[in-house]
Amino acid sequence: MSSEQEEFDAMPASTNEELFGRAKAVLPGGVNSPVRAFLSVGGTPYFVKNARGSTVWDEDGRSYIDYVQSYGASILGHADPMVVRAIREAATEGTTFGAPTRREVQLAELLCQWVPGLEMVRMTSSGTEATMSAIRLARGATGRSKVVKFAGCYHGHVDALLVAGGSGVANQGLVGSAGVTESAVADTVVAPYNVVPQLDQDTAVLIVEPVAANMGLVPPEPGFLQACRSECDRVGALLLFDEVITGFRLGRGGATAWSGVTPDLWAFGKVIGGGLPVGCFGGTLELMNHVAPLGPVYQGGTLSGNPLATAAGLAALGQLGQDRFDQLETTATRLADGLRAALGGAGLSVQIPQVGALVGLFFDSREVLNYDDAKRSADTGQFPGFFHGMLKRGFAFAPGPYEVMFPSLSHSDAEIERTIDAASEVGQELAEG
Ligand SMILES: *Cc1c(COP(=O)(O)O)cnc(C)c1O
Repeated sequence: MSSEQEEFDAMPASTNEELFGRAKAVLPGGVNSPVRAFLSVGGTPYFVKNARGSTVWDEDGRSYIDYVQSYGASILGHADPMVVRAIREAATEGTTFGAPTRREVQLAELLCQWVPGLEMVRMTSSGTEATMSAIRLARGATGRSKVVKFAGCYHGHVDALLVAGGSGVANQGLVGSAGVTESAVADTVVAPYNVVPQLDQDTAVLIVEPVAANMGLVPPEPGFLQACRSECDRVGALLLFDEVITGFRLGRGGATAWSGVTPDLWAFGKVIGGGLPVGCFGGTLELMNHVAPLGPVYQGGTLSGNPLATAAGLAALGQLGQDRFDQLETTATRLADGLRAALGGAGLSVQIPQVGALVGLFFDSREVLNYDDAKRSADTGQFPGFFHGMLKRGFAFAPGPYEVMFPSLSHSDAEIERTIDAASEVGQELAEG
């Protein structure tokens, strides 16, 4: 062992506060993804030391029932024994080769088998790469330039899609990002969610979160996705479902099976990596024939389809039978109903939308249908009080009003009950001001 290694191992245990101080000196905002910095709720982020199932432990030794679950990537809960074993075994065989491997084929077969209409995929290492590549493919295949997206939908940090983004962009109060040139977004058109946009012959692709989950949870209104499909068909544009959150969470067939609407292209991420970095985009054979090496749309990646990530993804997806999705939905329903009763009972105006395993929370009495509505709810300023009240009691939610809750398959009924009891207390506090 080198002396540097010994020095590293001997590093004394740190507190959240100490680590955040050190982090801020060497990482922008102390974090590697902006939402983690607690900017929109204030305070010091908890640094996770370890986690198991529903629970994370921080560097101060406190534990939290975790509804972040890596923004939905950990659908089974943390450190699932079968996933951990799969990663261990794969690691001993080598971690990356620059040559194709068996599990990439198995994972691709599984995805194409489960998602109705999906015929071929290309793996990436993140959801951002998946949407970025899918957009390139849509433009390459149609020969058109324009991309239409919905305000409040988040599709990763792709230049062309970083306008009116949800999640971290919204939490920072940004309309887009500095460093994204006007020319990079000149072909991006932003439309309000739940209103079918009028497309034209220049439109390459309409990208949508089929159930929006980055401006809080905003379900599509009945007929919305069908009408988007028809509008795309009318002008010969492609429909792209960004299922990075909904994929393999709303069931094996994701939002595609859930809605009965079949897009031309898909982007996936989060759940399919079993907690390791994986994304993928896919579509019909006809479209995927445009992707290199078959066609002229270039796309690649040194670590794409990584052996550890595909092993983890297979170990996670392999456990997701219909019974598990039913269980997850039952847990989510218990949580949503309980929070509605707890916060509503305290006299607060709340909307708690739920779609399958996804649960949202808006501090607003009016229904939230789009990004403007979501912003109005965030502007009530109630969320940070709720967030810190729950965190103090040992319940971790994503630190921003535009995120959703991710109950996992490890959350027990008793843990949901404790969460609801705590929410009652926090609701009382908030109602008393
Ligand atoms: C998280 C997310 C992305 C980006 O995925 P990364 O792995 O963070 O790059 C894209 N689209 C949606 C809907 C997401 O929720």
